[in-house]
Amino acid sequence: MNNITFEDLISLVKAYNPDEVQRVTEAYEFASQAHKGQYRQSGEEYIIHPLNVCYILAQMHADGDTLCAGLLHDVIEDTNVTKEELAAYFNPEVSKLVEGVTKLAKMTNVSKHKLNCTNTRKIITGMMDDVRIVIIKLADRLHNMRTLGYKSSEKQKEIAVETLEVFVPLAYYIGAYRIKNELEDLSLRYINPEEYRRLGELRLSIEEESKELLSELLAKMKILLEQKGIPNEIKYRVKSIFGIYKKNQQGKEIKDIHDLLSLKILVNEVDDCYRTLGAVHQIGKPVVGKFSDYISNPKTNMYQSLHTTIMVPEGGKVQTQIKTFEMDAIAQNGLCHYWDLNAGEARIVMQKHLKEKLQFYRSLKQIDKAFVDDEEFVLQIKSELFADKIYVYTAEGEVIEMPVGATPVDFAYQIHSDVGNHLAKAIVNGSEVPLDYELSNRDRIIVFQDLSVRPQEEWEHFAVTTRARRKMREYNRRN
Ligand code: MN
Repeated sequence: MNNITFEDLISLVKAYNPDEVQRVTEAYEFASQAHKGQYRQSGEEYIIHPLNVCYILAQMHADGDTLCAGLLHDVIEDTNVTKEELAAYFNPEVSKLVEGVTKLAKMTNVSKHKLNCTNTRKIITGMMDDVRIVIIKLADRLHNMRTLGYKSSEKQKEIAVETLEVFVPLAYYIGAYRIKNELEDLSLRYINPEEYRRLGELRLSIEEESKELLSELLAKMKILLEQKGIPNEIKYRVKSIFGIYKKNQQGKEIKDIHDLLSLKILVNEVDDCYRTLGAVHQIGKPVVGKFSDYISNPKTNMYQSLHTTIMVPEGGKVQTQIKTFEMDAIAQNGLCHYWDLNAGEARIVMQKHLKEKLQFYRSLKQIDKAFVDDEEFVLQIKSELFADKIYVYTAEGEVIEMPVGATPVDFAYQIHSDVGNHLAKAIVNGSEVPLDYELSNRDRIIVFQDLSVRPQEEWEHFAVTTRARRKMREYNRRN
């Protein structure tokens, strides 16, 4: 995986965007020159790293500026090239992207931790201006994680923990599951090597044992879909090592993981998805409570699919994921999928989607406004946005993303600040609850306003979102 050559990169770029081959070649030559005499801990020439980062971006069909920035991403930080030179030699966009992923220089009276927080904030908030900054950083981190073996074990753990705490959630939020899954497994490998090895072996044996069952199921499915005249492609997989690890941590035994084995069925049209669902339930009875329609109710990171888990012979169960080819492409790359859909306009469409459709964006903006100190900002981001989340439903069935511990007060402010300011009553799953009630995943919540009500002082003690806390303070200050 690590022996990608410049020729590999060029043939990949040529295949989807031949117009950029010239510029990518120039960026490669520029970066090679700038990093000349620098070596990675593996002993390889440094340019191997930016080359691989660019290759990861090219696999997602990144635009030309992003490809150049991928090749040049370390030149401001590690060589004496300046952003002005990049702007002049390439263009201001490339320069801005490289500047966006460049860490601030060490300062004498700032602690390492503080500087780290400042840099983390820079990357995260950089996406408010251009989400490609985060995408380049994810590609950078992915290659660094793939080659982490050369670092000291202390350094490995430190980087792996940061990957899990910061970069995995970022990949999740922009919907880039392929990067997210690889980063998770790699992180576990260094954070808990024994567990990683144990689960890796376990996963292999599960794969071996279930091969027959899954291929039989796949064949049955194929026949049934053919009879119904639904063109399809079917794959099967065993849950990832990190996925199994996480379920274990939550106290679940292997046999109780409902999506340990899963069948992915890809079809052309949305309508075919629902017809396929019928076929799946003809093959095996659905497990109660394990059906989700993420097509009419997409996840907040735009993931769409029908999920249903069915019973199979000998007491086993298999999850099926039914989606269109398009939904599958989005699930792999998230926002990056716009590079395929909107060639020239992708950068604008991505940014618009981030701002208008991804719920975490608004929370991020609130937290950025509320916390001046970088350490506090990072702490708040980790606890409010990057920790485990719950998803609750509005009366209209819309999905709202909230941090664990969120209350009806947080929910009301998430809907609208007026709803929060005059919140009088909350009904959860049909019963009235106190306003400090802790919401759970999949709760259905309806809130009522009363214009004579104003934010109560006690709300501040249990509201957990920055938005709720800020808005109630603003209201009380004004009135
Ligand atoms: Mn790098």
